[in-house]
Order: sequence, then structure tokens, then C-alpha cells
Amino acid sequence: MDYKKIIYKSFRVTEQLKDRGQLATYIPELARVDPSMFGVHMITMDGKHYGLGDHQQKFSIQSIAKVLSLTLAYHLLGEKIWKRLGVEPSGTKFDSLILLETFEGIPRNPFVNSGALVICDILISELDDAPAEFLNFVRELSGLSTLSYSDHIADSEKATGYRNIAMCNFIKSFGNIDNEPEEVLDFYFDLCSLELNCEQVAKTFGYLANGGCKINDGKRVITKSQAKRLNALMLTCGFYDESGEFAFKVGLPGKSGVGGGIVAVYPNNYSIAVWSPGLNKKGNSYIGMKFLEELTTHSELSIF
Ligand code: GLU
Repeated sequence: MDYKKIIYKSFRVTEQLKDRGQLATYIPELARVDPSMFGVHMITMDGKHYGLGDHQQKFSIQSIAKVLSLTLAYHLLGEKIWKRLGVEPSGTKFDSLILLETFEGIPRNPFVNSGALVICDILISELDDAPAEFLNFVRELSGLSTLSYSDHIADSEKATGYRNIAMCNFIKSFGNIDNEPEEVLDFYFDLCSLELNCEQVAKTFGYLANGGCKINDGKRVITKSQAKRLNALMLTCGFYDESGEFAFKVGLPGKSGVGGGIVAVYPNNYSIAVWSPGLNKKGNSYIGMKFLEELTTHSELSIF
């Protein structure tokens, strides 16, 4: 497969689109990003790299990091984690509180904010220093030994994080948060603040394209079955209330973030990251989605 040619073609078609969506403004730091940014980076199983546009520019990965915290919790505790949260698409916005009342504090899945907060709580209970140990875990996956949380983004989100603060307290009222909400929220804002570029994101998520093992050194991160399940969750729940649309148009497991990043994997073939900060109405990168649709259309390869 000539991925180089296909990526180039998909990139050229997409970058000409006039509409680029809107920046997320509810986190003040995200509103300051240059909306014209657009980068793509693919890493194949045989170690080939294809990068275009602003693929070396760091961006706030936001909810993409929820896959990594889930991975660590799943690795540490196995199937036990599913007692605390579900594996169903929510059909609601990522920060909605509605279903928490219906399901008595059990989040629908680990990628809506409520689910990610419960995962943070699990990691705090399980680890001596969850923020530090999670950071080390991401350093190991990305190969970035000096990676740190971005305080300016975490502080910016914390200052306006009223919904997440309400949500965490609400879940605690049902008994599904064990630690102090403030500690859980601080960790949550930290993990959402991570900044990586497209190449680093594609590398970090290589294990999901490679049956649970890192691409570069083959080191196992999670079991093959866990990788299958995480990919299934990304396919069904990775794009907020637009997960069906992403499966329909792109046909790959993936995860988006409100910073405009998307990671997607084609198991046994490649890991790809795309970033453009303008979002569509459902909160996913406007041209990032379009690019991936072009990519799987031209390559005629998807999981379906
Ligand atoms: N930190 C963001 C929030 O909690 C993450 C949202 C996202 O990327 O989906 O609102």
C-alpha cells in the first residue's frame, strides 16, 4: 500500500476546505491556539513514518489522554474496573450529567468525562502517587523522558471547570468516587493538559495497533484481549455523540479531544494522529475527521 501517496492526496484535498470549525473556548488556553494549524503523522507496523503539515507542533491532547489512563487502570486491575463504569455509548455530550442520575453514578463509558473521573479515582486508590506514576507510564509509551503536565492548561481548565467539579461531586454522592473530589479533579485536569505533537501521539498509541505491544521495541503494555477491547471502546465511544458517524465514515477505532487532535489505529497496519484545532458542532476536529475519511476512502482499508 502506497500510504505516502494516499496521505498526501488526502491532506491536499482536506487542507483546501474553507470551513475549519470553531476553537473550543470553554477552556481559555485552547481559545488561544492558531486555528489554521493542520498536521498529520502516520507510523506503520514496519516502522515507516509519514508526516505532513504541522505534525511537529505540540497541541493539547485533552481527552485523547483518557485512553492512556484507562490503559493503565485496565493493566493494573483487569476486568474489575468494569464494576465502576460501563462500556456503552452515551449518546450524550461528553460533559453531560443526565445519565449519571439514571444510572446512579455509574458512567456509561470511560471516555465521557464522568468515566474518566472514575478512572482517575481508581488510579489514585491503586497507586502511591497517581499523577507521577501515570506521567511515567506516558513517558515510557512515548519515549519522551522529560514529558510533563502543562500547568498553564491545567490551571486554565481548573479555573473554569465548573461542570467537571459538579460532576465529580455528583458521582461521589452515589459512592462511586472514593477519594476527595479535589484530588481526583486535579489529576483529571493534569492528564487532560498533556501536550504532544502528531508524531508523538502516533507513537504513543502504537500499542493499540500492535495487539497491545509497543511498535518500536515490542514491549507488552496490555494483553491482546485488552487491546481488542480498548479498540472496541474507541470505535463505539471515542467521538462523543458522533462515534457512530466516525465508524460510518472512517471505520477505525479512534479517540478525539477538544484540543482538535484525533488518534486512530488500523490494527496490524498503522497508528495515525491528526490535529486541527477547529471543531465541528459535536466537538471533534472538523478537518481531522474529513482527512481520516479521505484516508480510509482512498486506501479502501478500514476494519470493516
Ligand atoms: N478537559 C476536557 C474537559 O473535561 C476534556 C474534554 C475533551 O477533550 O473531550 O472538558
